[in-house]
Parts: sequence; structure tokens; C-alpha cells
Amino acid sequence: MKLILFGPPGAGKGTQAKNISSHYSIPHLSTGNIFRANIKNQTELGKKVKSILDAGELVPDETVVDLVVDELQNDTYNNGYILDGFPRTIPQAVALDKYLALEDTAIDLFLTLSVPQEELINRILSRGEGRTDDTPEKIKTRLEVYYNETELVLNYYKKQEIVVKINGMGSIDEIFRRISTELDKI
Ligand code: AMP
Repeated sequence: MKLILFGPPGAGKGTQAKNISSHYSIPHLSTGNIFRANIKNQTELGKKVKSILDAGELVPDETVVDLVVDELQNDTYNNGYILDGFPRTIPQAVALDKYLALEDTAIDLFLTLSVPQEELINRILSRGEGRTDDTPEKIKTRLEVYYNETELVLNYYKKQEIVVKINGMGSIDEIFRRISTELDKI
């Protein structure tokens, strides 16, 4: 099962991706987590992207695509995966499709978590993960980036008829039950 978990910052992608991963035994690939780990370990990639993450801006497409394609070569992903935080731009979505076509495979489902904007801000401010981009100013930038650039990705996938909208309001368990209902149909 190959999934994309989509939605604005604070929609609960990371939390639900972890739930799906443990319940369905498929790996969770979060580009944000990979970048943060590289920053923590002060790798070349980490040094290159630190100021971009701190600003709440997007890492250049080529860097992200290379990272994901490289990561997906790993045998761990042979039986499927959950992409969280990728693709975030149309060129990334196109590059992913190109890669999948070469591998003779495709994404099964594109789940989009919908949450009103006020709720997103409250969730991010109260999650206390210590992220340098979880400040009011950076949240504003990240939401702008989402609505200006990333949301277009949703329309791109709508054409492939694999999009399912999930109500992202309610408890973590309630939201997970809505997701499972969709995944159990595959
Ligand atoms: P996330 O953990 O998904 O909220 O990502 C945190 C930050 O990592 C984002 O604000 C971007 O700076 C960067 N990032 C993660 N995924 C991508 C992506 N697909 N394209 C560009 N930048 C990304």
C-alpha cells in the first residue's frame, strides 16, 4: 500500500502517519523528520537546509526529490510506504510520478486531512515539540507557503482520482478510525 498523507501544517499528518505505520506495518517517510535529523547531526544536507527550515520556507525541489528517490531505493519500502510532507509542490508531484512510472507502480491513495486554519495555529502552538519553526511568525509563513504553493498539489492528484478527504477534527482515535475505514477498502 502506497499512500500520501497530505494537509496543512498542524493537520495531524505526523501523528496519523505513525498510527497508520504501526497498524498496517508500512514505513513512514517524513521529509521534515529526515531534514530535522540531518540538522541535528550536522550533516552536509543539514547545514544546507537549516536556515530554510528555520524560516518556514520550502527546501528546493531538486534537493527534496533526490532525497526521497534515494530513500525509496531502500528495501524497507518494498511493500509500500506513507509519504508525509512530500510532495509539497507540483514539480515534486511530477517527479514522484515519473519515478513511480519507472518502477511500474503508483500511489494507491492520497489522503488529505482537513482542519480549519484557527485550529491549525492552536495545535501547532500547543504541541510543544520544541521545533524552531513552531513560533507564531514561522507558522504564518508555513501556512502561507501551504496555501500558495502546496495546496495546488491536491488538484494535481484529484485528476488521478485517488484523493480522499478526511475530516481532521476530533480525537486522534476518531480521525484514525476515519482513515482506517478508507484504507480497509483498498
Ligand atoms: P514538516 O515536518 O513536514 O512540517 O516539514 C518541516 C519543514 O521541512 C518544512 O517547513 C520545509 O522547510 C521542509 N520540508 C519538508 N518537506 C518538504 C518538501 N517536500 N519540500 C520542501 N520543503 C520541505
